[in-house]
Amino acid sequence: MSQINLTFLGTGDDIPSRSRNHTSILLRNNQENILIDCGEGTQRQFRKAGLNPCKITRILITHWHGDHVLGLPGLLSTLSMSGYNKTLYIYGPKGIKEKMKKTLEVFNFHKNYEINVEEVSPGIFYEVKNFYLSAEEMEHGIPTLAYSFVRKGNFRIKKEKLKKSGLSEGPHLQELKEGKDISYGGKKFKSKDFVYKEEDKKVSIVLDTKMNKKIIPFVKDSNVLVSEATYSGELSKEAEDHLHLTVIQAAQIAKKSKSKKLILTHVSSRYLKNMKGLLKEAKGVFTESYLVKDLEKVEI
Ligand SMILES: [Zn+2]
Ligand SMILES: [Zn+2]
Repeated sequence: MSQINLTFLGTGDDIPSRSRNHTSILLRNNQENILIDCGEGTQRQFRKAGLNPCKITRILITHWHGDHVLGLPGLLSTLSMSGYNKTLYIYGPKGIKEKMKKTLEVFNFHKNYEINVEEVSPGIFYEVKNFYLSAEEMEHGIPTLAYSFVRKGNFRIKKEKLKKSGLSEGPHLQELKEGKDISYGGKKFKSKDFVYKEEDKKVSIVLDTKMNKKIIPFVKDSNVLVSEATYSGELSKEAEDHLHLTVIQAAQIAKKSKSKKLILTHVSSRYLKNMKGLLKEAKGVFTESYLVKDLEKVEI
């Protein structure tokens, strides 16, 4: 099974620093290149990471704060000049259609490809044979969404069983994979005896939000949970007031949701000199915590 790749193009908070760009994450799986948020400077981060923005298939916007969207006009304009020739799908919370319309009017660049903007409600909003995308509403003062990418496990043949059964390779194996029982050489073979399903893989992305009851059920059993970590644990009052999470809350969410790995991003520049301390706080609650830097890649 091919891997899911995450590239953290920007890992800072609202004010970018020398080492941390505004937020943006690229999720790649086979032909899908899904960009989550597009802070200022995202298109240059693509170049630094050696990635081609023309491969983007979809953009998911969590919310319309500058540090998550200021890179959109530049990126969309560059795509036009780089021969982007597909329909670009942009998804976001309520209000994004109007915001995108105004953005395109203001910047008025020559656009030679289609942009399809969709306002997303909680639940699954895009599904194909091998994966789906779902969203949940967060609490951040303006319409805000968290997202999950779930790659569905394939149906596979149990090789050992096949060997012992005397069944040979052929199109009948596809029928077994599709759940059909078959007859072969005068014998009957049941699909459930020969077929198993690989595990689904789930990546959840929770960016700006204050702690709320919807997060844990939404991110349940993630292979990777990406979470904002704007504040350290001791600033929980500030986090609550500014509608953000602390690193401790992010770690508690990872633990309670039974996620396998927590990746912390959207880090405030106030911790630039003490990233280790911030990570230590998270690890105290949830061992499998990691704090990413700009351009870092994670494979799932
Ligand atoms: Zn932000
Ligand atoms: Zn925000």
